[in-house]
Amino acid sequence: MKKIQLSVLGIGTELTSGQILNRNGQWISAEAKKLGFTTSFHLVTPDERPLIRKALTLGCETSDLVFVTGGLGPTTDDFTRDMIAEFVGQPLEWHEPSWKHIQNRLNSRGVPVRDMQKQQAYYPRGATVHFNPYGTANGFSCDFNSPSGSKKIFVLPGPPKEIEGIWNQDIFPFLKELSKDLDPVVTLSWDCIGLGESEIATMTENALEGLGLEIGYRVHLPFVEVKVTFEKSQETRLKPHFEKLTQVLGPYTAFRNGEDAADFFHQWLSALPNQNFSLELIDTCSEGKLLQRLQKSLKYFSNGHPALIKLKLSTALRGLAHFQVQYQSITKDYFLESPDHYRPLTMTERERQYFLEMALYHLVKFLRSL
Ligand code: ATP
Ligand code: MG
Repeated sequence: MKKIQLSVLGIGTELTSGQILNRNGQWISAEAKKLGFTTSFHLVTPDERPLIRKALTLGCETSDLVFVTGGLGPTTDDFTRDMIAEFVGQPLEWHEPSWKHIQNRLNSRGVPVRDMQKQQAYYPRGATVHFNPYGTANGFSCDFNSPSGSKKIFVLPGPPKEIEGIWNQDIFPFLKELSKDLDPVVTLSWDCIGLGESEIATMTENALEGLGLEIGYRVHLPFVEVKVTFEKSQETRLKPHFEKLTQVLGPYTAFRNGEDAADFFHQWLSALPNQNFSLELIDTCSEGKLLQRLQKSLKYFSNGHPALIKLKLSTALRGLAHFQVQYQSITKDYFLESPDHYRPLTMTERERQYFLEMALYHLVKFLRSL
């Protein structure tokens, strides 16, 4: 089965200077991976022509598809379109429908249309324009005949929301069609608790011995995540081995395939017959992170109703915390001991994280037992 490689080039001095993080690279790769594409690399360059040229050359040498984000705006530091035109050897040409699009967007917001905005209506000859449902800067794509074959370059504006809009409209359908013959990569994961990384790894290696699989481990306290990656065409052959691994890790498995405690709580709430209740939360331990973790579930609660559930996370002594759940007439207490309890002085960030995730894990176990 064939593989199609892509790379993502983020353009902007705000990226290389550390002012903002290249979220576009992460998002594009994650979306493309779902369709079976493989990312060779992410690169960020400042707004400097020679470096952008080098990045484009590298992108086209190593990938079939190159995604370029940022620098399509109306200001003088936005010259991605000029660079692409130069790179593919085509002159920039005026595109009247884009100029209409820019005027319409600006007029509808009562923003004056300025001449400098005209540069956003030029594209390399032969390019396909991708209309931007959330901004003035349309994206475009063009072909490039490189020494290693024909490549496609997608050029997108910088703001993540605008990329998502153009993606859903134009790029996803294109990639979906292109991905028909690909063998997508599937990842299964087990979040384990109660054993150390090396014990979990030994059990995993034994269960999957001799299969030549890509196995990864990641400690994110209090869990050890086991991740196994394989090609979808191999799924049937591998299924019995994964069942064996699921069984072996069973007693230690808290969550599967990226689900976490906050997701579980959310689903549990959404399945309740009515939602006229509030949440009582006391937290003197996590510096507000418990509330943040439950953020997406807060829409189920409203003030002025009796509390459905009471959660209390507190810490008094170094290295110890107390978590209490009250639901209907049941009260459960959990005493948590941090793996850093032997360290002196103030509570560490890691410890707060540990107590928070342990508390949520106990909450899930409690709700599952109802
Ligand atoms: P605009 O018309 O908004 O200027 P643009 O195509 O010129 O669009 P940039 O100026 O490069 O885009 O970036 C606009 C904003 O988009 C940045 O200030 C930043 O907030 C966001 N952005 C740009 N690139 C990225 C990236 N790689 N990851 C996350 N956010 C980004
Ligand atoms: Mg800009």
